Amino acid sequence: MPKVADNIFFVPGQDEFIPDAHVYVIGDPATKDLSVIDAGLMGKGAYKVKAIRELGIDSAAIKRIIMTHTHLDHIGCLAEIMQQIPGVELWVHRLEAEQLEKGDERTIHGMEMFRQMCQMQYGLKPGQFTFQVQRKLEGGEKLEIGGMTWEVLHIPGHSMGCIALYHRSTKTLIPGDVVYADYAIGRFDLYGADAAALKKSLFTLAELEVDTLLPGHNRIATKLPANYILQTAKQWEPYLT
Ligand SMILES: [Zn+2]
Ligand SMILES: [Zn+2]
Repeated sequence: MPKVADNIFFVPGQDEFIPDAHVYVIGDPATKDLSVIDAGLMGKGAYKVKAIRELGIDSAAIKRIIMTHTHLDHIGCLAEIMQQIPGVELWVHRLEAEQLEKGDERTIHGMEMFRQMCQMQYGLKPGQFTFQVQRKLEGGEKLEIGGMTWEVLHIPGHSMGCIALYHRSTKTLIPGDVVYADYAIGRFDLYGADAAALKKSLFTLAELEVDTLLPGHNRIATKLPANYILQTAKQWEPYLT
């Protein structure tokens, strides 16, 4: 399902022994003001850019990459994609943007065991994930981009700078790894995670009317049942203290 709805495009992740985040492209291609949401795992940049081009999208129309958060499975191929799209901006929540600018990789790897494992598997070098961030998001913004209005919500808990993007008129939510289809939620044991904050974030998302859920992994859902996120939040509430 490459096109989820008008002006919302989907490039599925190609999971390996660790997952590869889905990528979404949002905006009316005619505006030449498109946004890519998230990047993916190391080595997946060429696949993601090729898949975007195969959707008929001119990569020169992509003006920014907006990160839902900066875990390795989302940011691993960010540099690969940025190399192929000259001049593209990077927009990240301030809390994780400040880490990226300092080269603080604790959120990226989440735990020391993963850092060591990925360093061996992918030959990662210290400093590889240092980025300048052109726009630091706070949550509460209404982004007028690509002929659409996307609301930014700061929903910490899975990591400290998680954001969701919400398109109110089509009831479409891009929540990163905070909530998935199939009543699952993101893990809350990694660096910067906070179970109580995740609970609050889930109940914040539950207040939105959501028909289409476009999460960072696994299946995407259209025609969600009413109160899907509320039910998910209530199911997980006892574990989120
Ligand atoms: Zn994550
Ligand atoms: Zn993820």
